[in-house]
This record gives sequence, structure tokens and C-alpha cells, in this order.
Amino acid sequence: MDGVVDLGQDVFAIDTRMGGYSGITAGYVIRGDRPCLIETGTAKSAPRVQECLSYLGIEAADLATVVVTHIHLDHAGGAGDIAAMYPNSQVVVHEKGARHLADPTKLVQSARRVFGPAMDRLFGDLLPTPAERIVALGDIGHIDLGAGRSLEAFHAPGHASHHIGLVDSVTGDLYTGDAAGIYVPETQDVRPSTPPPDFDLDLAIASIERMRTALPTRLLFSHYGPVDDVSLTLDRSIEELHLWVEMVREARDRNFDLDHAVAMVIEQSQVRLPAFHDDADVVLKFEELASTAANVAGISRWLDKVEGPGSTSGDAAGVTR
Ligand SMILES: [Zn+2]
Repeated sequence: MDGVVDLGQDVFAIDTRMGGYSGITAGYVIRGDRPCLIETGTAKSAPRVQECLSYLGIEAADLATVVVTHIHLDHAGGAGDIAAMYPNSQVVVHEKGARHLADPTKLVQSARRVFGPAMDRLFGDLLPTPAERIVALGDIGHIDLGAGRSLEAFHAPGHASHHIGLVDSVTGDLYTGDAAGIYVPETQDVRPSTPPPDFDLDLAIASIERMRTALPTRLLFSHYGPVDDVSLTLDRSIEELHLWVEMVREARDRNFDLDHAVAMVIEQSQVRLPAFHDDADVVLKFEELASTAANVAGISRWLDKVEGPGSTSGDAAGVTR
């Protein structure tokens, strides 16, 4: 089936096609005794995800677990729909995100404020998940996949306070969510995702280092796909984070407002990473997913916190991906 890729050992990547784009938002399925879906995609993706699960032989009664790495709408927007489609599934989320899945009112309101008319095109509304079906994880967690196989979860804040990473006990795969940035298959390189209000450089780097200590065999990025070269990729994630923070710091030193800071970062990135910027389609879809403006606003908000307000300060609250 188009957009379903067999990654071996009962692991499958499915393209959830956020906003109709191919190759930016992945969900993963671990088939087996207790089938598990990692990332629901957006609410609008739910029928597509259901179709993919059905293709993999997983019907309404079969799905045991749904895990979301964090509650941003490109990862968990379909949680309510998927919970309704698969009535036996438990929905696993970090404890800081649990109440927003049970009652998404505030999350949806703030997303609508940030995305305006693009909200319906990209995401749709996150529906509530019945509270009794939500399993909230703390610093670590264990998800039973059956037959002695499990996912071991750990808190991985930095991109978002409610972010977790997951390691498959059989394959050594590490589900990175957005905590190690965004992998762009077209250029085989990473790009940071540092949105407000949560982005924190120190926590983000600590989470990436935590991933390294798990000695993963492969990284499975929600954006987008599997990556074998673990240590090089994690190194690049950290390097890009530092570079982006330095660029925003420079813009503040030069007293640029947020718009000028964004323009400066784009200009410097075009020089630094011409392969990415040469392909207009790639730039467009990854900007929809994690825009330079959201990244700069998130870094700026973090700098405000650690260094005091600067020229790029402003209302950057509530960007939800
Ligand atoms: Zn994301």
C-alpha cells in the first residue's frame, strides 16, 4: 500500500499525510500480540491511519495501545478519533499532556488562535479521549507489546514539556518524536523544531544525550522516517540547535525585531544549507510543519527567560507544534 513501509520485525511506517503532504508526518505500527500505534497524526489523518492499520490486518477490536510522543496536533491530533475507532486501545501520553487529551478545549483554542484558517486545512479538531482510557507516564514508563516485547519510555523535554522518547526492547529502535529535531529525507539532514512556549535549549540537548545513552540501533523520526546513522544524526541535531540559538542571539544583539530576525535566519540558512533551500517544494512543506518563524519565536522566548527580554520579544505564546 502506498505510504506504508515495512521496516522489519513487525515495524511499519505509515505516512499520515498531514495537510495532504507526503513525507512529512509518520506514524509507526508495531504489529504482534498487542498491536501498538505510535503517533496518530492529525484528526484529519485518522481515516487514512485506519485504512493503513486495516491493510496491516489490525481491525477495530485489535489495537491494544496508542502512544503519542507529545500532544502537538501533528502527533496527537487524531487521538480522540483513533480512540473511538479502536475501542479496546489505551492511549499513552506523558502526564503533562494527559489532561489536554481528556479535555482538548484549551489546546484547540490556542491552536486556532495561532494557525487561524490554516487550522482546518492542516489539522482539524482534536476530539476528547475518554479519561479512563488514558495512561499517563511519569519520568519513565513501560508499554507491553506482548510476547516479551516492550517499549520503554522516558521523559524527553526541550521541544515540549510533555515529550517522551520510546525504545523498542527487541529492535533497539528509538522513536524520537520531535525531540531530536526534524529529519529531512530529501537532504538526509536535520532541522531543529523549537516552537514556543516550551522550547528550552538545555533540556533539548539533555534529551538528545539521553537518547544516545539508550544506544539505539536506529532512529525513527515522526518527521520523517528511519535513520540508521544514529550518532552522526544526533550530533547534527545538537549542532543545529546551537547554530539556530546563536543566529537568534545575533539578531537580538543587532536589535532586530522578530520579523527581521526570521529574515536573517532564513538568509543565513540559505547560505549554510543550499541543498535544502534549492528545492522549493521541500522548503514549503517543511515550513508548514515547523516554520522558521515558530522556531525563532520559540528560541527568542527561551532567551527572554534565561537572558532577559530582547528586541525579538513579543507574543510568541501558544504555537502548538
Ligand atoms: Zn511534530
